[in-house]
Amino acid sequence: MKTIGLLGGMSWESTTDYYRTINTGVKEKLGGLHSAQIALYSIDFGTMEKFQQKNDWQGAADLLIDAALKVQAAGADFLLICTNTMHKVADQVEASLQIPLLHIADATAEKLVADGIKTVGLLGTAFTMEEDFYRGRLKQKFDLEVITPSASDRDVVHNVIYQELCVGKTSIESKSEYLRIIEALADDGAEAVILGCTEIGMLIKQSDSPVKLYDTAKIHAEAAVARSLEQD
Ligand code: GLU
Repeated sequence: MKTIGLLGGMSWESTTDYYRTINTGVKEKLGGLHSAQIALYSIDFGTMEKFQQKNDWQGAADLLIDAALKVQAAGADFLLICTNTMHKVADQVEASLQIPLLHIADATAEKLVADGIKTVGLLGTAFTMEEDFYRGRLKQKFDLEVITPSASDRDVVHNVIYQELCVGKTSIESKSEYLRIIEALADDGAEAVILGCTEIGMLIKQSDSPVKLYDTAKIHAEAAVARSLEQD
């Protein structure tokens, strides 16, 4: 079994889901007392969020690279950055390592393509919904058409992530807003919706919506299990 490297803490609310999903997946595959081999570095999200606010992406990348090198030194065979947003600097992180990066958008897109989805809605932080590092990758590498909510709905989605989900809060009001926005994406032609922020699964489950949902945290964690159990 390969050792899974995790860069977590962004936020820790979703890192706990990664930890549980990965260990559950390895236990299901190997049985008995087996559990995953994990090297986890958990970042202080308060520090990271300040870099985001100041648009200091070099500072953010430096912090992640420093942590990623520690995960590599701890024996990880490959690395996951446990947030969609911070994949904005994924190329820089990957370039500083000897071990490979398992990209969250690639793991998600591979599932969408396998399911025959061509047009997909995307929910996440403003960075993820609006910038090219994520939607551009879905388009260029996987030929997926990406639809995002209106500007005012993008604000709702973004603010709920930082003001509620990342501090462990969920509310009925936010849940119904998210469900309304998911519905609007489907009305605009989305065949499915990517929950492109690792905390959205705390608020919205597949059973809440008739629209097919792709939870990036779950997909990413399951891809890590598959990679760790792969034969060389
Ligand atoms: N976990 C979130 C994501 O998947 C947002 C927090 C962050 O800015 O990293 O994008």
